[in-house]
Formats: sequence, C-alpha cells, structure tokens
Amino acid sequence: RPRRELVSSRAPGNCCRHSASPRVRVLQWNVLAQALGEGKDGFVRCPPDALDWRERKYLILEEILTHRPDVVCLQEVDHYHDTFLPVLGSLGYRGSFLPKPRSPCLDVEPNNGPDGCALFYRRERFSPTATDHLRLSAMMLPTNQVAIVQSLRCRATGRGLCVAVTHLKARSGWERMRSAQGADLLRRLRAITSRAAAAAAASEADGAADGALLVCGDFNAEPSEDVYRRFLASSLGLDSAYRLLSADGLTEPPYTTWKIRPSGESRGTLDYIWYSRESLSVEALLDIPGEEQIGPDRLPSYHYPSDHLSLLCDVSFRELPHRLL
Ligand code: NDP
Ligand code: CA
Repeated sequence: RPRRELVSSRAPGNCCRHSASPRVRVLQWNVLAQALGEGKDGFVRCPPDALDWRERKYLILEEILTHRPDVVCLQEVDHYHDTFLPVLGSLGYRGSFLPKPRSPCLDVEPNNGPDGCALFYRRERFSPTATDHLRLSAMMLPTNQVAIVQSLRCRATGRGLCVAVTHLKARSGWERMRSAQGADLLRRLRAITSRAAAAAAASEADGAADGALLVCGDFNAEPSEDVYRRFLASSLGLDSAYRLLSADGLTEPPYTTWKIRPSGESRGTLDYIWYSRESLSVEALLDIPGEEQIGPDRLPSYHYPSDHLSLLCDVSFRELPHRLL
C-alpha cells in the first residue's frame, strides 16, 4: 500500500492552538464500483486479478479501517448489503445507503445491483437526529445523481454536525450539469441546516444549531470548474480541507484520481472534503502519495484497490462565540 502520513494542517494558528474539543476523523472515498471496474472502466494497465472482488474487498476495508475514522463517506458502493454494512456494522458503525436511480452497474453482467453513495458514522461518538436521502436536480429536472445528508449530535460535546456525501455527474461536457447539481445540493443543505437550527432552538439543545457541516464527494470537477467556485463562494461558509495541505493553504492537491484507459492517462483533482470554516477547524490531513508510490501502471493496482485516492482529515469544533466570553 502507498505509505501515507497524517500531517498537521496549515490552517493559520494550527501549530500553537490546542483544541479542547475531541477531533472528528472523516474519510471520503470513491471505492470504484465492482461492476464498473470489471465491466466498463477499461483500466488497461491494471492486472485483471487485481480487480477480483474476493481480494479487492479486503484492501478496501483495510484502507477504510486503518485510521479508524468516525465518519465514512463513500461513492460507487455496489456491495453495501453484503459487505460494507455487515463489516462496518459489526465494528460499531451505523450506515445508510442510497443507490443511483439508474446505476450504470446494471448494464454490466454480472452485477451486484446498483451503485450509490454510502455514509457511516461511529455509534459510540454520534447519535442521529435526521437522515435525508436526496435525488439531485439540475435545471428543475431530476437527475441520476444522489446525496445523503446525515444530521448528527456529538455525544461528548452535544454539538450538532451535518455530514453530506455525493457523487456528481461524470465526464467532460457535463460541466453545466455538475454546476446545477451543486447548486441544488447547496440549496437543500441550507434548508436542512436551517431546519436543524430551528429544532435545536425549539428544544433548547445546547450548541446543536451552530451549523457545523461537512460535504464529502467525488465532484467529478477540477477546481477550475463552476461547481467548485460555487461551493467556495456559498453562503454556508465552506472551504475545501485539502487546500490546507499545500504550502500557501489555498491550492488543491495535484490529483485525487490517476488511471490509464484505452484513451490514455487521466489524472485529476475531483474529490473534496468541504467543511464549514466558522464552526470547524481542520487539524490534520492524510497526505497524497507521490508518483513513485502510485507506480507506473497508476490506479487501481495490486497495492491500491480504487482509481480514486481516499481523503482523510481530522476536524474539531470551534468554540462557540458565547463560550468565549
Ligand atoms: P456518469 O456519467 O455520472 O458516470 C457513471 C460512472 O462512469 C461513474 O461512476 C464514473 O466514474 C464512470 N466513468 C467516468 N468516465 C468514464 C469513462 N471514460 N469510462 C468508463 N467509465 C467512466 O453516469 P450516469 O449516472 O449519468 O449514468 C450513465 C449511464 O447510466 C449511461 O451510460 C446508461 O448506461 C445509464 N443510464 C441509463 C438511463 C436509462 O434510463 N436507460 C438513465 C440514466 C443512466 P467516476 O465518477 O469515477 O469518474
Ligand atoms: Ca469511477
């Protein structure tokens, strides 16, 4: 497996500030649907037996479990009921799965059902307050892309945390669709976080209304795309965690996916962990493996089971303004 280090974030003041609140570790990963990897993707430099599910599933589970994340956000899951839920469920996670309305996995024979997004959280750390399953729209029309929004309460601190996972429309030529899907997701996140705030105010639950939000996903969009700018400029006050790995704290990693198809080599930054900067701070991130670690045949490989890299970071709750007094 590529060696990856957990490094301190370059957020201003991070080196000298010790957060009193316990860290929340979040993992974002497009795990590569089994049916797509074997039947559609055309990873010409990946040995076919590296794609054998009987082996690959252990590499995927190892990658997820190595760093014991508190929250796990996955895309292209087509083995939820027979693998991810039983394994993660037995290890203390609660999960939710939302298949795509018309998954391309179903065009492959054999397949294991539709792929979709999955979201897990550690039961010991969080209690659920609401789960929203969304089909994303673009220009008022329903699309084939989905999102799960899980509202949680941190058991230790009582703080509210809303986590979303999504997988936007793939391929070049679909930039406007991605932008519209992103706009729809942002609009619905605003409604869900306002609802949580109203519920917290009504029940006088301390701290639940401070708008802490994480949005994880394969956006299928480079930082130059409209949907990325939309997220950065949104009224939810979001920032992209992996920018904090760069020297200037503003630049995304050079790639989060790297593969070779018959059409050639494809390398890009498409995956993100967005966090609300007023209520959360990023303490540490798992670094991105270098070219040598990835290897000449790129991904997936015998050493790494998906064409996308996992992203992982530790966030902590910022102190609420009234607690500073
Ligand atoms: P997307 O275009 O969003 O992509 C689906 C998957 O294909 C993604 O997981 C994506 O992976 C992967 N992918 C991206 N680029 C390539 C590539 N160059 N070669 C192979 N795979 C790639 O899918 P949609 O959800 O829009 O569905 C598309 C397919 O689903 C259609 O081709 C059709 O088969 C079927 N469909 C059928 C409908 C119907 O009514 N009959 C309706 C809707 C869809 P990644 O995100 O990692 O890039
Ligand atoms: Ca894919």
